[in-house]
Amino acid sequence: MANAVVSPDLIQVLARIVGEENVRADEPMSAHTTFKIGGPADAYVMPRTADEVAAVVRACDEAGAPLAVVGNGSDLLVADAGLRCVVMQILDNMASVRVEDTRIVAQAGATNAQVARVALEAGLAGFEFASGIPGTIGGASIMNAGAYGGEFKDVCVELACVTPAGESVRVSREEADWSYRHSMMGDAGYIVVEAVLDLARDDAAAIKDRMDDLKARREEKQPLEMPSAGSTFKRPEGYFAGKLIQDAGLRGYRVGGAQVSTKHTGFVVNAGDATAADVRQLIVDVQNRVFDEFGVRLEPEVKMWGF
Ligand SMILES: Cc1cc2nc3c(=O)[nH]c(=O)nc-3n(C[C@H](O)[C@H](O)[C@H](O)COP(=O)(O)OP(=O)(O)OC[C@H]3O[C@@H](n4cnc5c(N)ncnc54)[C@H](O)[C@@H]3O)c2cc1C
Repeated sequence: MANAVVSPDLIQVLARIVGEENVRADEPMSAHTTFKIGGPADAYVMPRTADEVAAVVRACDEAGAPLAVVGNGSDLLVADAGLRCVVMQILDNMASVRVEDTRIVAQAGATNAQVARVALEAGLAGFEFASGIPGTIGGASIMNAGAYGGEFKDVCVELACVTPAGESVRVSREEADWSYRHSMMGDAGYIVVEAVLDLARDDAAAIKDRMDDLKARREEKQPLEMPSAGSTFKRPEGYFAGKLIQDAGLRGYRVGGAQVSTKHTGFVVNAGDATAADVRQLIVDVQNRVFDEFGVRLEPEVKMWGF
């Protein structure tokens, strides 16, 4: 752990909170990102309850160690040198989902696909748009994930969160202040532990048809067979990022193992052994070329950590 800011003492404290089996030192982030890229995190911790999340937050705060939260890592580019902090994963250990009448209460580590399946089985409509977004409910809450005309803010009525001070709070839809790929929780550093979705009753066969249709559209348009983090850039006002990139002649453009997808120019893919440095350089090159050609500044949607 060269230059680590996470002490062995803190790792022991974390192990007491979440159990030995749920803490790792020097954990490669490439195993936890859909890009399959990223160096080691000093410490990687996988809490099982909201109380454990709060206790980890307080322990890191007391130790002066920075803390980052990861869900399914489907919107992340982590630097090759890794992360000098504690990374908290909210995924499988906090993934329970229950139905209450027309509402679904999901822990933040449940995946969108898992919640969509539960909604389908319960005959509840409104979450089909998210069934193919390969992240968690926590990631969807922070990013206001959206696709095919639907957004997380349309269905989520309440969240349970842990604040940076380690306090448990409820957050209403109004307080969440969602807009395009933005939330109050992201700004304030809140950790999402649970979300309540309000859906509408519908025929299960009709829900399934809509999910199948969106799945087919994704498979046709997106390079799902290659590691990526989805759309690399936010949609610029009045344009489509993929179209600008294509019109700038960058389809298939490569830096090392990173490539502008030939199938969907809005995606940067890991075409084999790409480093984070490759992807980052490619992003900068694309931004510069598109700006030179069209005067539009593309802003990354993908979160870049450790640079
Ligand atoms: C093939 C592909 C297709 C995609 N298609 C879409 C799409 O159609 N629409 C779309 O919106 N996105 C899409 N994405 C991007 C990504 O799936 C979404 O942004 C998703 O919401 C991220 O969720 P995650 O759990 O993977 O979050 P991560 O990537 O792990 O984290 C993303 C951000 O959320 C924060 N975060 C995660 N969980 C929590 C939590 N519990 N509490 C607090 N903060 C948290 C992280 O700190 C980070 O800032 C796609 C990605 C891929 C790879």
